[in-house]
Amino acid sequence: SGGTTPAPPARQPRLTVLSGPSGVGKSTVVAHMRKVHPEVWLSVSATTRKPRPGERHGVQYFFVDDEEFDKLVANGELLEWAEFAGNRYGTPRKAVLDRLDSGEPVLLEIDLQGARQVRESMAEAHLVFLAPPSWDELVRRLTGRGTEAPEVIERRLEVARVELAAEKEFDATLVNTSVEDVSRELLALMLNRSEEPNTG
Ligand code: 5GP
Repeated sequence: SGGTTPAPPARQPRLTVLSGPSGVGKSTVVAHMRKVHPEVWLSVSATTRKPRPGERHGVQYFFVDDEEFDKLVANGELLEWAEFAGNRYGTPRKAVLDRLDSGEPVLLEIDLQGARQVRESMAEAHLVFLAPPSWDELVRRLTGRGTEAPEVIERRLEVARVELAAEKEFDATLVNTSVEDVSRELLALMLNRSEEPNTG
């Protein structure tokens, strides 16, 4: 009726959390994303784990000692944190909030305990579950590293069984059929596109 067309609402800056069972390939997806889409901002976590060969401080993680991690927790500097396989991991709060303030999408790759904490503290978070193509494939991935003792692997499988059930807590599921497909689908989710069939 002659009025001006209202401007479309500004796109909400979106916090996307990629999580899923241990060994499902989250870090491979994120490494691929880093390479193919360097414009996507990835949170760099702090961890007490020792660097693996090729990992660099400030790139894959901020590698800190127990005392430094204690301090991060005590000062409220972590958005979430969790203990995983004997080490602690946490998401630096300020960097994430600053990035969201700037209006850019943010991607976290964290374990399920962390994803649940983010769900509690950040209502706008979009939780994406990375699922294995099949249970057999997950077993292959968990056992295939070839470096761990059988009882360690057995415990991982037990944990994975429980972790798979967490899918129902998530907003969307991506099946890790190929790293290229998942990266593309994840990016589409982050940019609020809905062209992808493989989402919940
Ligand atoms: P890795 O030691 O193999 O790099 O990571 C082990 C697990 O820790 C993975 O499941 C990874 O998603 C998770 N992780 C990495 N960073 C964080 C973090 O900041 N917070 C939480 N809760 N988990 C994390």
